[in-house]
Amino acid sequence: MILDMAYEEIVEYVKNLGEPVYRAKQLFEGMMLGKKLEDISNLSKSLKEKIAKDYPTFEVSAHLKSKDGTQKVALKLSDGSIVESVLLKYKYGYTVCVSTQVGCRMGCKFCASTLNGLQRNLSAGEILLQILFFNHLLGGTLKERKVTNVVLMGCGEPLDNYDNVAKFLKLVSSPEGLNISQRNISLSTCGIVPNIYKLADDGFSVTLTISLHAPNDELRKTIMPIANAYSITEILKACDYYFDKTGRRIEFEYSLISGVNDGDKEVEQLAKILKDKTCHVNLIPLNSVKEKSLLGVSRKRAYVIAGKLVKLGINATVRRTMGEDIEGACGQLRNRIGGANA
Ligand code: SAH
Repeated sequence: MILDMAYEEIVEYVKNLGEPVYRAKQLFEGMMLGKKLEDISNLSKSLKEKIAKDYPTFEVSAHLKSKDGTQKVALKLSDGSIVESVLLKYKYGYTVCVSTQVGCRMGCKFCASTLNGLQRNLSAGEILLQILFFNHLLGGTLKERKVTNVVLMGCGEPLDNYDNVAKFLKLVSSPEGLNISQRNISLSTCGIVPNIYKLADDGFSVTLTISLHAPNDELRKTIMPIANAYSITEILKACDYYFDKTGRRIEFEYSLISGVNDGDKEVEQLAKILKDKTCHVNLIPLNSVKEKSLLGVSRKRAYVIAGKLVKLGINATVRRTMGEDIEGACGQLRNRIGGANA
């Protein structure tokens, strides 16, 4: 698929087809605008025929709009896999929340994306496609993008699909394409430690978001299987390394689960382990997932916890909940394959 290719690779691809180099720019721009091949008007018919098999295609299998302006789309890829993505509207522009895998194998006890395990990794172009779709839908161009921010917080674990995600980050920030700065991209991970080091060593500077959800390993292991592989101490050490290399403040996600991780003891312990770190804690009352018995806390309780953390010297806020009514909120994406699991 040519959406997986960087601009320079498209140049080679076009040359190999015996076409002049300027065609590469036309093709790349058309693709980055999210156009269907037939709608790229400046490409010749014969070239379109030659590249049709390599051009990205998808169908929109569902498109839901929330009362708060959030939109969720399920795109059906050429092999029938479904990817879900969410569009969030903020004052400054639009953010797209992309999926990085079809399903997920991390097994977090509170998350819908992991219910059917991992089906497959998404390629770099398949991740990019989700942004191009929404930018096109909103009438954005390359000069005037509508989508300004990206969060890798949909289905899947980005650091479990490292190579494709790394390539995606290069593609989405490519100056010939959407040119979205890494400063406007957040990558959320449950904490695959070696790949946090790799991300820093490979020169990326996206905002690193760690799904912590517990202040100690014992509790974390009960809700996140990945905690059996990497300890919180190891994760925090990797975060220090990432911060030293990039200067980017680390974000910690803490989804509040009633009676599990929301007690005063846990909150105090959280403040203790994050003390003196340049970081921010995002508190999210757990969103309900019907197959899971875990419950969230009230927003009022979340604000009390945020206040407590702030008092203890931790920069903490409560995340706005968006798109809950269309199952587009954190942890609710579930990749309903062919309707079988709907
Ligand atoms: N695999 C990545 C991205 C997952 S989704 C990661 O683990 O970070 C983004 C965030 O939503 C993660 O912090 C995840 O733990 C959280 N999340 C999952 N299910 C949730 C739920 N039901 N309610 C609130 N947050 C949830």
